[in-house]
Amino acid sequence: MKTSVIGFPRIGTLRELKFASEKYFKKEINSEELLQTAETLRKTHWNTQKNAGVDFISSNDFSFYDMVLDTATMLGIIPKRYRELHLPQLDTYFAMARGYQGESGDVRALAMKKWFNTNYHYIVPEIEDDTVIDLSGNKLWEEYEEAKALGIETKPVVVGAYTMLRLCRYTGTKKAADYVDAIVEAYQKLIKKCEESHIAWLQFDEPSIVQDMDKDDIKLFRKIYDAVLPCAKSCKVLLQTYFGDVRDIYQEVIRMPFAGIGLDFIEGKETCHLIETYGFPQDKLLFAGLVNGKNIWKNHYEKTLNMVNTLRNKGIQVVLSTSCSLLHVPYTLKNETRLSQEYVSYFAFAEEKLVELRELSVLAEKENFTSDSVFLSNYNLFTGDRNCTNEEVEKRLSLITDDDYIRLPKRSERQKLQKNVLNLPEFPTTTIGSFPQTKDVKANRSAFRKDEITEQEYVEFNKKKIADCVAWQEEIGLDVLVHGEYERNDMVEYFGEALGGFLFTEKAWVQSYGTRCVKPPIIWGDVYRKMPITVEWSVYAQSLTKKVMKGMLTGPVTILNWSFPREDISIRESISQIALAIRDEVLDLETNGIQIIQIDEAALREKLPLRKSDWYTEYLDFAIPAFRLTHSGVKPETQIHTHMCYSEFTDIIPAIDDMDADVITFEASRSDLQILDSLKDNHFETEVGPGVYDIHSPRVPSVEEIEKALEIMLTKVDREKLWINPDCGLKTRGVPETDASLGNMVEAARKIRSKMASEN
Ligand code: GLN
Ligand code: ZN
Repeated sequence: MKTSVIGFPRIGTLRELKFASEKYFKKEINSEELLQTAETLRKTHWNTQKNAGVDFISSNDFSFYDMVLDTATMLGIIPKRYRELHLPQLDTYFAMARGYQGESGDVRALAMKKWFNTNYHYIVPEIEDDTVIDLSGNKLWEEYEEAKALGIETKPVVVGAYTMLRLCRYTGTKKAADYVDAIVEAYQKLIKKCEESHIAWLQFDEPSIVQDMDKDDIKLFRKIYDAVLPCAKSCKVLLQTYFGDVRDIYQEVIRMPFAGIGLDFIEGKETCHLIETYGFPQDKLLFAGLVNGKNIWKNHYEKTLNMVNTLRNKGIQVVLSTSCSLLHVPYTLKNETRLSQEYVSYFAFAEEKLVELRELSVLAEKENFTSDSVFLSNYNLFTGDRNCTNEEVEKRLSLITDDDYIRLPKRSERQKLQKNVLNLPEFPTTTIGSFPQTKDVKANRSAFRKDEITEQEYVEFNKKKIADCVAWQEEIGLDVLVHGEYERNDMVEYFGEALGGFLFTEKAWVQSYGTRCVKPPIIWGDVYRKMPITVEWSVYAQSLTKKVMKGMLTGPVTILNWSFPREDISIRESISQIALAIRDEVLDLETNGIQIIQIDEAALREKLPLRKSDWYTEYLDFAIPAFRLTHSGVKPETQIHTHMCYSEFTDIIPAIDDMDADVITFEASRSDLQILDSLKDNHFETEVGPGVYDIHSPRVPSVEEIEKALEIMLTKVDREKLWINPDCGLKTRGVPETDASLGNMVEAARKIRSKMASEN
């Protein structure tokens, strides 16, 4: 059985591309040196796959920043403001990705968006009314030839025309439909050019077709490929899908002249069922995505081989494939020196997944694989005991009742009580939690990690920082204070380290966007709180002030979404475990005199399933109750806040209200405040703090500007429900701009209060 890899990570095992790119941005190396690094990386990655015996190896999966931006560039989709900088090609590309400020001009970057249900972000191409879509650029062919020169025949991959049309933003009056002919022509040219280069297989990535498709969408897809595919004569086209199943268009695509179709058997719940029901043509190759490209657990060989056999028994020609690009998992276990073998034996990162593909392909050819030693060792892994259960946790979970998900009394009554107890002014001012992480803060944390200072020194430093931060906030005149989060770097890492059941890696980086990588923790076992996590910091901070100190936690959904989840228990169960751990912390904070507790759910929105029909049953139906479980045990007077980074929750507003928090803060300063209309339409009950300024830029908002934003907000939000705050944490900001911005914000709050008072 042949094997295929949809795409391979490109940042380098030790993030070589990141460091080289950043040096290039700082002008410490020139473009040749950067190109050299890139070439070396490509060579390594191809050879790694070749040596592992992969049959279908991708090329053009390399990218200096993002593959959607690469495809846009290939199609000539470059907005005028970037063209007009007249920069060299590579710099125009980086200008779109990161913005440009220099001799040639001053332009902001294109927007960035989450790549489907992953934590990878793509650059959103912009099509202007006068954009001329046409094939330009040679990247695909150059990289193909580069691999060929190394003796490796590759399948170039490119984002397909349908997905491209879906992902672009149309900034003028024209819409996607106006560009169909042009994009079709460009892809026709692309295929012809591949024919000329004698490319045997070409992979079109079309993840957009795993989303809900209506009749028009299907028509559009057909229109594109009915026109494009006839150009392929000897070049075979692989339609590659991932992140779900193609239930809306399956019957169509199996009849279209693709030479191969790649289907996801991991996230595609309906994939098997579709094949069962409608069959799969024997003259096409089925690229069966059975090796998980998104998670780090070893493949269950028995299940996979049984599936392969089921498919082959139907006469289907199977190529064993990853379920999506390996971009979403770290490179290799080889760099993990601290994880014990007991753990490591259960994991497969990208390189280890190549070994799995090979082993599975060999086993699949055996008459009786069940006696093979390779098979048996995998079999034993899954039948043996993994040492990951905690009886106490399971017992606690089993004792949860429906009442534990309900906070009493109802919110409107709590809100009245809280107004009395907390005694805050109208339109209370607050921040989202973190304060600038200046160099000394980072140095202190890092010295402590490296054992260069004692715990006492570490704590003393942070206490001094907290004291300064409290004094600073009092001076600015904020109403609800925070301790500043100086003890945290990445919030999920911070909580994960304090919880039982989590594992941490050393070098297991995954690209999040451009040069930014993250190192998600692994949920190994049942999760529980080992000891109080934040209580000491919050209690100390509260002791310094008469104002209300807000406790600061991360919620269960976010902790889970930013980790590699378990595969042996359901997401629902894992989230509930984490919720119980956070609940313990909430109750401890309350017992220790903290009256307001914020539970951040920054990542709640991002894992919303790709299909609308799954939103509730597959996610919100347990994610929202899990959040409620964290806070349902507090007294009515204790005020629960939550925070979300984006305001893109227009279509799930009832679910957000159903979290039953007392206050929610979110990012609204960059959007057009449309969200507020939707809140109103949905009779949103939670008090709201729509961020009044953008913390992602060092720009200081003026008092007038904030006042104006508040005035608009007041036309849409009930007067007694409005909070005033920045749109996210301040950790990435500098001290001077933070001081000025918060000062202006507090001043704007004063003005609006007196204005409203005089109007009464
Ligand atoms: N409390 C966190 C902070 O202020 C929230 C971070 C986030 O929303 N991403 O940094
Ligand atoms: Zn945020």
